[in-house]
Amino acid sequence: MARAFNFNAGPAAIPLEVLQQAQEQFVDYHGAGMSIMEMSHRSALYEDVNNEAQALMRELLGIPSHYEIMFLQGGASTQFAMLPMNLLREGQPAAYVQTGAWADKAIKEAKLIGETVIAASTAEDKFMRMPNLAEIAVPANASYLHLTSNETIGGTQFHEFPDTGSVPLVADMSSDILSRPIDVSKFGVIYAGAQKNLGPSGATVVIMREDLVKDNPKTIPAMFRYETHAKAKSLYNTPPSFAVYMVSLVLKWIQAKGGVAEMEQYNRDKTKLIYDVIDGSGGYYKGCAHEGSRSLMNITFRLGSEELEKQFVKESEKEGFIGLKGHRDVGGLRASTYNAVPLESCQALAQFMKDFQQRNG
Ligand SMILES: *Cc1c(COP(=O)(O)O)cnc(C)c1O
Repeated sequence: MARAFNFNAGPAAIPLEVLQQAQEQFVDYHGAGMSIMEMSHRSALYEDVNNEAQALMRELLGIPSHYEIMFLQGGASTQFAMLPMNLLREGQPAAYVQTGAWADKAIKEAKLIGETVIAASTAEDKFMRMPNLAEIAVPANASYLHLTSNETIGGTQFHEFPDTGSVPLVADMSSDILSRPIDVSKFGVIYAGAQKNLGPSGATVVIMREDLVKDNPKTIPAMFRYETHAKAKSLYNTPPSFAVYMVSLVLKWIQAKGGVAEMEQYNRDKTKLIYDVIDGSGGYYKGCAHEGSRSLMNITFRLGSEELEKQFVKESEKEGFIGLKGHRDVGGLRASTYNAVPLESCQALAQFMKDFQQRNG
């Protein structure tokens, strides 16, 4: 069996061991005579999956006991709206850090719900960097401060987080959750679609401080209220059960690898291989993100011309590389190197890049 060198941005690579385990359990889950997909979400077997996924998430990220963990549907895009519906208060603007395409989408949705302010923006630098913490101005009465920890399209990442005092800090971590240790107690809310670092699409993780879960306008329809889902342990209605099951397997895989600190080192080793080729190419490859903001999850780079970039993609596909074309909005090239992308794929890409330069430089 030949596995592709998968650098897709999302849905993205899932560890081979996880896929194989899911395959083993696919038709007959733990002797139940049926697949996990065919089972009641009220069954003891599924409840175990749900509880285990939550417990592993808590353990791996070191989530304090006064935080709720929810598995919802609708992707991070639904969170863009659900968050202000629940937390944006009249007379207290929601502050947003504007760092690229995903932050922009979050801002657009919040504007439909209430007042917003831009706490910092790197638009002038074409979103090729994250702001310094000192650039972020949070109004004292803000409902919350929202940031995007990793901009998947631009290839930039926050390497430290602001201290927002009594204003809740909210982070869209869709493309870098569990890729490194974080201090969860600095955050009021963390959310992430699963399909980049956690498993398949269909499940969205929300980690939220208890007091924020409870404090919401009671006029919000039940499905859009965090309290509904937290109270029901994410079993208020039918959950994305197969996706949550896959997430639980991915979490077990991370645990077996030694946890998120080991994941971070692995991601550093992987991305260094590729950034080193970019930096050592004498300008043949140009990294898009400013050096201090470079992402360990999405490496964005360009070649001298769009023709050459097209040729790069075409030749790379012939050699088994998938997903290296940049996002349609920004062009260029992008290698997404999430947790599940093996070191071997990055070694192969680094070698391909060197060979390509030699042939076409
Ligand atoms: C992919 C992504 C999203 C959108 O996720 P969906 O699950 O498709 O809604 C939002 N934010 C970031 C940072 C992303 O990478």
